[in-house]
Amino acid sequence: MADKRDYYEVLGVEKNASEGEIKKAYRKLAMKYHPDQNPGDTSAEAKFKEIGEAYEVLSDPDKKARYDQYGFAGVDPNFGAGGGGFGGFDGFDFGDIFGSFFGGGAGRTQQRRGPTRGQNIGVQLDITFEEAAFGCEKDISFSRIEDCAACSGSGCKAGTHPETCTRCNGRGTIRTQQNFMGMTMQSENPCPTCGGKGKLIKDPCNTCKGKGKVRRNKTVKASVPAGIDHGQSFRLRGEGNFGSNGGPSGDVLVTVAIKRHPIFERDGANVLCEMPITFTQAALGAEIEVPTLDGKVRWSIPEGTQTGTTFRLRDKGIPYVGYKNRGDQFVTVVVETPTKLTKEQKDLLRQLDDTMDDDVQPKKKSFFEKLKDAFD
Ligand SMILES: [Zn+2]
Ligand SMILES: [Zn+2]
Repeated sequence: MADKRDYYEVLGVEKNASEGEIKKAYRKLAMKYHPDQNPGDTSAEAKFKEIGEAYEVLSDPDKKARYDQYGFAGVDPNFGAGGGGFGGFDGFDFGDIFGSFFGGGAGRTQQRRGPTRGQNIGVQLDITFEEAAFGCEKDISFSRIEDCAACSGSGCKAGTHPETCTRCNGRGTIRTQQNFMGMTMQSENPCPTCGGKGKLIKDPCNTCKGKGKVRRNKTVKASVPAGIDHGQSFRLRGEGNFGSNGGPSGDVLVTVAIKRHPIFERDGANVLCEMPITFTQAALGAEIEVPTLDGKVRWSIPEGTQTGTTFRLRDKGIPYVGYKNRGDQFVTVVVETPTKLTKEQKDLLRQLDDTMDDDVQPKKKSFFEKLKDAFD
């Protein structure tokens, strides 16, 4: 955790970057480090996850504000958990000072006695372009912390019960006074004997070794919403780690990674593609078959179509999440210059060329006129 990079640094943006700038930076990096682009490269995969995490926080105004104010501790409930890095420093627990800023002591969630919500779990899900466009059903597998079935979460061997801790009399906390820079500070710390639980287990359950919790693999069926985009997440409510002391379970946050499509690219709800056409089709006009998410459609390109011309197929894009209406498809035609022509074909083209004058190629005409003006 200590070597986590600053989220702004990860995305390469300034602290005052706009929403659009953050999104743009994320898109660029996500494309670059996408697992499909870097098969088998674990460092790229780690980068991709790092980028996703940074974007998840910086794209959410709430989380961003918390991150700006408190750093990682403001957005990650795991941060500092079990680290103990601050404790033991000259016998002083920095948590005492910073505790109140972090909303009640980062990393101490496990030790609080009241109901505590289970932590969220992040999962990455790889899906195809079409699955993202139209939605799909997926089995999502992850490992989570559950109540131990053998002891129903009590941590005690069958037939035994926890005993009240004598050091803290069941309060779970003990009061200490410490001197810090000439000030006397009073703080309440979790009882070290019972770990803040207020109770001690004399005969621990064999299955969970008295923890009351076990880690288990879980698979949940989930509907991936139609229209979800790369890097976006959806939530499986209450499927995360179990809570403590009657607290609710956390959620599972599934972040989607869309595999590259051989033909289509995506820009929000719009689909982009390039379509090669022949020189003859461009010159004479033609009816061409264009691939769309709904299958092939016929499209007439007019006589004299220039390379790079983009036409729009309405409602052939991707649905907006939660809506029926869809984006559009933009098809850019690219005129392909013929290669490996036979001698006969070349002769025919030369004959054609001899008949061409400036009127049929107005761009060429105006280019040379401008050139003349510029140098005369
Ligand atoms: Zn105690
Ligand atoms: Zn148990």
